[in-house]
Amino acid sequence: MIVDAHTHIFPPQVLADRHAFLEGEPAFAAIYANPKAPMLDGPGLIKAMDQGGVDISWAVGFPWVQEKHARLHNDYLCEAVASSNGRLRGLGCVHPPAGWALAEARRCLEMNLSGLGELAFYDSDLDLASLAPLCQLCAEADRPLLLHTNEPVGHRYPGKSPMSLTTLYQLIRDHGRTKLVLAHMGGGIFLYSLLKREVHDSLQNVWLDTAAGPFLYGPRAYALAVEFLGPHKLLLGSDHPLLPVSRYQQELEQADLAPEELEQVLGLAALELIP
Ligand SMILES: [Zn+2]
Repeated sequence: MIVDAHTHIFPPQVLADRHAFLEGEPAFAAIYANPKAPMLDGPGLIKAMDQGGVDISWAVGFPWVQEKHARLHNDYLCEAVASSNGRLRGLGCVHPPAGWALAEARRCLEMNLSGLGELAFYDSDLDLASLAPLCQLCAEADRPLLLHTNEPVGHRYPGKSPMSLTTLYQLIRDHGRTKLVLAHMGGGIFLYSLLKREVHDSLQNVWLDTAAGPFLYGPRAYALAVEFLGPHKLLLGSDHPLLPVSRYQQELEQADLAPEELEQVLGLAALELIP
């Protein structure tokens, strides 16, 4: 069972004319103004899943600044899930500081979306105040919240935000009941579970995904995440169409996980989180 817990799809309107969506959307423009930045719709993703042997994918939304864009995208995620023959799970997305964010997030969970994601602050640190009601909503609904995180040090790349592990750790501590999936190996926060006090227990309700991992870490990072948090806490996520799942499978093989650990990472852990 292969589950890809981090993929991006966009509505056909965005695919047809991405330039019409750039104005007033700095984060979208920063990542997708380049016509070479690949984009897919639901059927395009399912085709890639068939080619790559992926059974189920989580398709995430984008943190649009404008409500009309968020609604269009979230409605499309619902549609794509409904017509996917069980192959897709959708995560609705909002721009957390927006006045409409909580109502739209609630609407997403009332539709057939399985959680929220990929919530992101691409040009600032995480805003704890605006994330709080969204974390609470997900805790009450018992659905996961997938959050963009990245390492606070190291080389720069598009989409790398100036976030800090101090703020991320505060978010985790404040929302122990929320199932938090931290994208991109959680910015490395799992390494601190080696500390003798507190951190390991604080990460009880935290999962990591491998999205963009081959650009960021050597395969040993996956082995360490599995060792520190357990194999049921590391989710294969490809960030497709950024990278194909096969690339992650190659790297995970080099991590020397036990076969049953690899099975968890490749799909069983994600299936447990969103059946
Ligand atoms: Zn991300």
